[in-house]
Amino acid sequence: MDFELTQEQEMIRATVRDFAEKEIRPVAAYHDQTGEFPSKTVAKMGSLGLMGMLIPTEYEGAGLDTISFALALEEVARICGSHALIMSAHNTLGMGNIWLTGTEEQKKRYIPDLASGRKLAAWALTEPASGSDAAAMRTTATKTANGWVLNGAKNFCTNAPVASTFVIMAVTDPTKGNKGISAFIVERSNPGLKVGKMEDKLGVRASGTAQVLLNDCEVPRDALLGEEHRGFVNALRILDNGRIGIGAMAVGLAQGALEEAVKYAKSRKVFGAALAKQQAVQFQLAELHTDCELVRHFIFYTAWRMDRKDPLEVSDLVSMCNFRANRLVCEAADRAMQVHGGMGYTRALPFEHIYRHHRRYRITEGSEEIQIRRVAQYLFEFGRRARGA
Ligand SMILES: Cc1cc2nc3c(=O)[nH]c(=O)nc-3n(C[C@H](O)[C@H](O)[C@H](O)COP(=O)(O)OP(=O)(O)OC[C@H]3O[C@@H](n4cnc5c(N)ncnc54)[C@H](O)[C@@H]3O)c2cc1C
Repeated sequence: MDFELTQEQEMIRATVRDFAEKEIRPVAAYHDQTGEFPSKTVAKMGSLGLMGMLIPTEYEGAGLDTISFALALEEVARICGSHALIMSAHNTLGMGNIWLTGTEEQKKRYIPDLASGRKLAAWALTEPASGSDAAAMRTTATKTANGWVLNGAKNFCTNAPVASTFVIMAVTDPTKGNKGISAFIVERSNPGLKVGKMEDKLGVRASGTAQVLLNDCEVPRDALLGEEHRGFVNALRILDNGRIGIGAMAVGLAQGALEEAVKYAKSRKVFGAALAKQQAVQFQLAELHTDCELVRHFIFYTAWRMDRKDPLEVSDLVSMCNFRANRLVCEAADRAMQVHGGMGYTRALPFEHIYRHHRRYRITEGSEEIQIRRVAQYLFEFGRRARGA
């Protein structure tokens, strides 16, 4: 076993940290407060290779591995939850779906613009009446002589307000349940696609989450992404990539909370000394520091396995590190809030955004319960032998 990051991975971490400090930190609060999509910094992220991290260089991606992706997401999330979510959803969900299941022609047509960050992708699975039980979706795709017609509504679609390329899941055979769902690429210019209501969210306010409405939306035959009826099965693979990203972002945000709490504890005086001199406070933050390290390494391990194995082989690991990371960020936000006292509850310090951002982690891309359910399925239904046993 080798626990060293490669020189390239170390360099990526340092470069993204520097970029996030210099380019994202100064604008993060503005975008969070106004909800304005941070187009300028996202374009710079594209120039740095952050919008196509796992895509080979011949398609204008950065050609990196999943550990590098996790490192980069952690660094971005340490500073801003919105920028991290935009990057993660684009890389793993919208563009990720086209990359993993697209034909060569589809890849050539869409990936270079997406991987370079010139254009953004959005991925639409969730609907008003189906989230965790995504296969209960109602959006339909009906075959016609020339292609397909899509009808329905999608909810909570990240990047939708600015995306040029949408991947839409729709029912193609209602008799087959989750084996009767297919994925389609729909371009923003399609008159049958409308971006609807923007969600007014508690946190990650600049990430742009909106409804997507499909009204007799006609697409050609070659808009089908992957095999017909395999859209949902493929979505589970795509979500695994997304969930490792969610875990990395959660660690990044937890790390940000820890750093703010340490800084505040050193500067705040109580009973004649710095708050940081109180052993009770030191212990709280030392435990948090330990948990950040633990979960970070669990994510690295899972990312390392993802790059070496059939992704399905690591699905349970992805869910394990996802829900652990999500619990960590909740613990971190709560402890850091406590250390900040009353000032933590105001907008005066650079902390309260962490408290608002953190809560989404236990909900999105498969809620905490759905992750634990998946681990339980491996334990009780799929008969997975414990690793190393
Ligand atoms: C900021 C944000 C960005 C998002 N981006 C996207 C996106 O880009 N694309 C997209 O398709 N979706 C996106 N989503 C949707 C997200 O994936 C869903 O919100 C999530 O899957 C949960 O679905 P739901 O909200 O419908 O909750 P529900 O499915 O209604 O669940 C409600 C509660 O019940 C619990 N629950 C459900 N089933 C079980 C069970 N079997 N056992 C125990 N508890 C259960 C859930 O864990 C949850 O706590 C986003 C959501 C948010 C908030």
